[in-house]
Amino acid sequence: MQREANERHPAHRANGAGIDGIPARERVGEPGGPQPRGATRREFLILGSKMFVMTSVAAAAFEHVLAGVPEAASTYNIVDHWWAMLIDIEKCIGSGHCVRACKLENNVVDEPFYFRTWVERYHVDPLDMDHPTVDSPNGGIDGFPESYPDGTTTGKTFFVPKMCNHCADSPCTQVCPVGATFRTNDGVVLIDKEYCLGCRYCVQACPYGCRYIDPRTKTADKCTLCYHRLTKGLQPACCETCPTGARQIADLRNPDDPVHAFLRSHQIQVLKPQMATGAKVYYSGLDGSVR
Ligand code: SF4
Repeated sequence: MQREANERHPAHRANGAGIDGIPARERVGEPGGPQPRGATRREFLILGSKMFVMTSVAAAAFEHVLAGVPEAASTYNIVDHWWAMLIDIEKCIGSGHCVRACKLENNVVDEPFYFRTWVERYHVDPLDMDHPTVDSPNGGIDGFPESYPDGTTTGKTFFVPKMCNHCADSPCTQVCPVGATFRTNDGVVLIDKEYCLGCRYCVQACPYGCRYIDPRTKTADKCTLCYHRLTKGLQPACCETCPTGARQIADLRNPDDPVHAFLRSHQIQVLKPQMATGAKVYYSGLDGSVR
């Protein structure tokens, strides 16, 4: 079977990420990287202005993050973290708990087709292993029926949760004409709704289909890694609710995070590695047929 997914450790990515998966330019204390813990917010702002070439609107959005938007978190030090997610395909049972929790937590539009995270089921016919069928009824929010779309009940099957990959080199942020979408210093791609024009450039630029236009606000929307929870020391809702622990939030800047041991001892893949986006949703056990 042709493998599309990246078989290499994320530490070997072409974007210069090291053994912990953090790009060199994001390493604390390194030239161009964020300042060590303890610097004042003002110093951080000055450094931030040197680090990023941002439009004034993006800078304003960044200021919002520093100011604690979407939620105040006085003890949260943005440069101490570099967020990623681990998804263990062998543990995912397609229950849809994560999809439901995400919709509730983030007030995602109820109708089908609007998801910040969703689950796809891949069904591989042993006689045609290179052409799996994929279904995701209502994003997998209610689980999956026993039979497959082709009417069969046999063959290999597995579930693939999907979401924004919070790319280190995100194409979506590069195309936004007003800088309304941006990556924070702790590695989370966010959208400032006040500035978003709803132009759809980012929706088209995302190679993973992770963005949509919220019909209520007419602005772009997608996973925030539950940033409002992360900054309070809580897990994203999808991780917290997963009954099997298939989804794990990972702080690559925390040397005590078990993610480091996991990355050293497992083969990790990312979706569409050929896009070189620096995707930070790392999959373990991902079949090569996954698109
Ligand atoms: Fe942007 Fe898509 Fe990457 Fe998320 S997955 S950061 S929306 S390009």
